[in-house]
Amino acid sequence: MSELEKVLAANAEYVDAYPYPEDLPHRPTRKIAVLTCMDCRLEPDNALGLAVPEANYIRNAGGRASDDALRSLVVSTRLLGAEEIFVVQHLDCGMSGTTQAGIVEVLARENLTLEAPASMVDWLTIGDPEATVRADVEIIRNYPLLSADVAVHGFLLDPKTGALLPVTDAD
Ligand code: ZN
Repeated sequence: MSELEKVLAANAEYVDAYPYPEDLPHRPTRKIAVLTCMDCRLEPDNALGLAVPEANYIRNAGGRASDDALRSLVVSTRLLGAEEIFVVQHLDCGMSGTTQAGIVEVLARENLTLEAPASMVDWLTIGDPEATVRADVEIIRNYPLLSADVAVHGFLLDPKTGALLPVTDAD
């Protein structure tokens, strides 16, 4: 069975057992937005004790405060009513095992024509994980389209234990 066939079969079962009413609210009922990494080991809902439809999730490589993450956080807070943002980056992140130059090199090795365009992308690699959480929390706190009333918390999640380690709230 191909992955596509497996996905379609799984979806048919999901639909049969679908546990939610048709009129679920589209605003996060606990007024929480979570910015986290796309890492396949992370379960941000279970790790934070959140269920459908309690929170919005924004995921990207590293869980970074990229332009598009900021766009989604504005929508979550200003349009959907979220009042608290949890930035959940993590230990052993793939984006901390490489550098801007390292990613450009990998892409250029695949195909030399990729070197110039790859070097134009900011890959948002991570040097010091704690410093990166602090920096991204500051970017979010200072983003002019977000309200200063929105609380922003920064964490590192340990994928080996599931533990959520406070970074900014430990200050
Ligand atoms: Zn990661």
